[in-house]
Amino acid sequence: GSTLVEVEDLSKHFRVTGGPLGVRTAGHVRAVDGVSFRIGAGETLALVGESGCGKTTISRLMLRLETPTTGAITLAGRDVHRLDRAGVRWFRRKVQAVFQDPWASLSPRMRVGDIIAEPLVVNERLSRTRVRLRVADMMGLVGLQPWQARLFPHEFSGGQRQRIALASALITEPDLVVLDEPVSALDVSVQAQVMNLLKDIQRERGTSFLLISHDLASVRYIAHQVAVMYLGEIVEQATADEIYERPRHPYTRALFDAILPAHPDDRRPGSDAADEVPSPLNPPSGCRFRTRCPHATDVCGHAPPRTALPGGGSVACHLYPATAGSTKGPVRQ
Ligand code: SF4
Repeated sequence: GSTLVEVEDLSKHFRVTGGPLGVRTAGHVRAVDGVSFRIGAGETLALVGESGCGKTTISRLMLRLETPTTGAITLAGRDVHRLDRAGVRWFRRKVQAVFQDPWASLSPRMRVGDIIAEPLVVNERLSRTRVRLRVADMMGLVGLQPWQARLFPHEFSGGQRQRIALASALITEPDLVVLDEPVSALDVSVQAQVMNLLKDIQRERGTSFLLISHDLASVRYIAHQVAVMYLGEIVEQATADEIYERPRHPYTRALFDAILPAHPDDRRPGSDAADEVPSPLNPPSGCRFRTRCPHATDVCGHAPPRTALPGGGSVACHLYPATAGSTKGPVRQ
């Protein structure tokens, strides 16, 4: 579809100070480092990676909770970090979010109907009757009964609370919903229900989703595009069909296998430290995955090329020469 979101060479660096045993150190964590992607209208892009990979920082940048160090995010052609006051009001209707923990995001003393109505009441001037009708509409959309609007969040199960959060996120008819680990706090049986609901809503309303997840398997049925992140960078990006059938980057494959082998050179008896994610304060030079990659060689001390994949994706790894699988040649990162 047409492009809704365009992320261009986005970076977010945080200054950090402090250190162990009173040793003062200072530096920059490159939480997000030169990331580019686009989300089409009515499409889902999943950002996948372990904690600390930068995916949550990207969601916070997307929601205007952080400002980029460099690069830009545009929504429908407008730079979301350069909006005037009217632009900010526009943005708040167009972009909503659903977070992992439905307990934390729902105010316990508000009735569910008021929780769902809140973004509408804050952002638009509508009569109480219109608001009530829109709330009833939204409750129907997410599979809740209108009479349940009078209840409080604790009277619902975890899966139902996530439906409430979703109804509230959708009531302003946003173009984009940021879904930050939306099902990881739910029972496995309920996860599939909520994922299917998201899919149905997207089909019905053409909403785009930016889905943040640590788990490649759970995003499978909803993602159109998948971007795999490691230490602030996108290491592989492809259509869902491509990445599930032919995962290319060693890190993507490790995520599928849920095993992250240590580099043989770093393996020490009695130590599993080599299997930990390196500090983002001091990431490895060259390919950042090389301390954990089973295929690492000397050349991996140099930054890998970014090779174009069929369907518009890319992979950044020396195993894939810049000409492989592409007629376009290497794409500069
Ligand atoms: Fe492994 Fe080298 Fe590819 Fe990095 S560039 S993922 S270290 S093979």
